Amino acid sequence: MKLYTYLLDGIEHVGAEMDGYIYPVTNAADMLSLIRGGEICVSSENGIKKDKAALCAPIPRPAQDVICLGINYVEHGKEAAQYNKEAFLRERPYAIYFSKRVTEAAAPEAEINSYPGLVTKLDYECELAFIIGKDAKNVSREEAPEYIFGYTIINDISARDLQTDHKQWYFGKSLDGFTPMGPCIVTADEIGYPPKLDIRSYINGELRQNSSTEYMVFDPVHIISELSSGMTLKAGTIIATGTPAGVGMGFDPPKFLKSGDEVICEIEKIGRLVNRIK
Ligand code: MG
Repeated sequence: MKLYTYLLDGIEHVGAEMDGYIYPVTNAADMLSLIRGGEICVSSENGIKKDKAALCAPIPRPAQDVICLGINYVEHGKEAAQYNKEAFLRERPYAIYFSKRVTEAAAPEAEINSYPGLVTKLDYECELAFIIGKDAKNVSREEAPEYIFGYTIINDISARDLQTDHKQWYFGKSLDGFTPMGPCIVTADEIGYPPKLDIRSYINGELRQNSSTEYMVFDPVHIISELSSGMTLKAGTIIATGTPAGVGMGFDPPKFLKSGDEVICEIEKIGRLVNRIK
């Protein structure tokens, strides 16, 4: 099932897609309540055409920071180390976890602020994100897939100058608007496990990233079982699994984003997340 958050008369609603229409979910006021409730009841009336719907990010205001994986595709690790060895070279066989503050996730089609005067090296990162469906603590690898509610696309927008200047990545990844998300959450049953999905990004129509999520180093099962061995992952937690090669800093010279650029992040079975740089 494809689940959306959309605006109707200025109010956010949650809905499910059927035959090109989005029908309202009747048993939850917002996506986080829907995830925590565990059941999805959909009305068969009052559908609106999907093309006409004013979409929000599926989870517009995450309850907690998004958990992110760093350097989780081998080829992206190489391009990042080439750009800045001190900041990105990884030699340890452990997952890199960091977090990203998301006061409000940017909607599909939303403009992304480029922060002139603060940021000079603005970059994109198309990523598969998964959402935890029930509170997870001490979850085994075997049980881990049951804890995945669904999947969405996140563009982990990054200010490379802030990211590397401050050493910790938090500030450079967390500016307002730096987490476009959507267009929908696809429930886990439609994707299957493990997720083997084509993942691509385009800047002004030019293909930049082109890979498959099967090449991620640490997969959702590893991430859930490892993190839950020491911390509770609450239902609704969003985990972004890292980006493949082809980001702006990976080119020589780098191809950073500029005002007016159109950024498309695309993942098979989920859809396209389109944003423009203001
Ligand atoms: Mg990232």
